Amino acid sequence: MNITSLIEKKKRGMKLKRGELEFFINGVISGTIPDYQTSALLMAVYLNGLDVEEVFNLTDLMLNSGKTLGFKETPLWDKHSTGGVGDKVSIILAPILAAMGIKVPMISGRGLGHTGGTIDKLESIPGFTPVVDLADLDALLEKNGFFIISQSDEINPADRRLYALRDVTGTVDSIPLIVSSILSKKFAVNTDGVIIDVKCGRGGFMTNFARAKELAHMLEKVGSLFSRKVRTVITDMDQPLGRMVGNSLEVIESIEFLKGNYQTDLKELVFDLVTIIQKETGVSCSIDELIHSGKPLDLMQSFIIDQGGDGRVVDDYSLLPVAPVRYEIKAEDSGWIDLIDSKKVGEALVTLGGGRKEVGQTIDHGLGFEFLRKVGDQVDRGEVIAIGYLNRQEDKKLIPDFIRVCTRPVNKRSIFLSSSPVFGATSI
Ligand code: URA
Repeated sequence: MNITSLIEKKKRGMKLKRGELEFFINGVISGTIPDYQTSALLMAVYLNGLDVEEVFNLTDLMLNSGKTLGFKETPLWDKHSTGGVGDKVSIILAPILAAMGIKVPMISGRGLGHTGGTIDKLESIPGFTPVVDLADLDALLEKNGFFIISQSDEINPADRRLYALRDVTGTVDSIPLIVSSILSKKFAVNTDGVIIDVKCGRGGFMTNFARAKELAHMLEKVGSLFSRKVRTVITDMDQPLGRMVGNSLEVIESIEFLKGNYQTDLKELVFDLVTIIQKETGVSCSIDELIHSGKPLDLMQSFIIDQGGDGRVVDDYSLLPVAPVRYEIKAEDSGWIDLIDSKKVGEALVTLGGGRKEVGQTIDHGLGFEFLRKVGDQVDRGEVIAIGYLNRQEDKKLIPDFIRVCTRPVNKRSIFLSSSPVFGATSI
């Protein structure tokens, strides 16, 4: 067997056998297959797809490329997003669930394409590390009720490698590659279930509802082949989620949320996901009361400290890097906002240096945008709609027009694009 023949096969749309996918994954993690051939096969998969059996095999091989983790605690749930702009939900949800006794052992990723990544956001906290000695994870889960770590040489090294290459080779928005990437991370841990937020719209990888539903279906289908419970929701990603976009800014918004200061769309989404998991686990309590008790915030601070970070950020945002120049983006006309193009927002952040164009690129965590108004809001000419956090005044030239104001009233967008969960609670 050789990698060139596998690339040729997939190029012609043929099915790859388990042994062939195994050869590929082994070569990726051992480094015997060079990046250019891995990228070529990823592109062939991107163009010609994988069927459910191939996705199942790829997922299984990826998750077994490293160690798997087993925890005794229950209930044990996890959450993941297919990738969005301003999507800081995982950082908010984990301590809330933990505070109600639902343990969350989370393996997350960095930014992908124009979308942000939970790990990059958390790394904006001075000292924070997503790489933890596996022997310490039990104690972290017991103490804080959750941890958030990244793929590593020990856990799912295959996804670590493929994820970084997909990010820079235009092969991110592929349903089979997204499913295998997400589920191989999530199934590396013995959770009772995982909820996946499928993002749909300009700023997601699925730009229309039919594709989002296809992705949700494949996630649940492959989950069921592993006899694992996967629940999906499909939510709006046509405009950025919440108020902030950018790594440290999103950490600030997450901490504010845990202090009870919610942005409407973010609140609706977080509360909905918590409610679904509450139904699944039979754990019930008022989410609002829990947040106002301060327990989720205390757990967040303890989690930051236990993963090497400076826990004082919870009370003092000046310890986080935030770019010094505040550039005001103003309405050019009076009217109603009918578009905040989340893809352009995410791309602008990458162009400025807040996301990656190359594998391993160092990013500037302090860059970003704050949205004071959202789609459907009425604005006056000259009113500040958004603020860009930049390093230099002249960087404003790198920001494209991503906001559109029109003269007719525009409805506010609903965050939910489908019933929630999408396919109800199926048997597994
Ligand atoms: N999140 C992941 O972990 N992988 C993907 O491919 C997309 C989103």
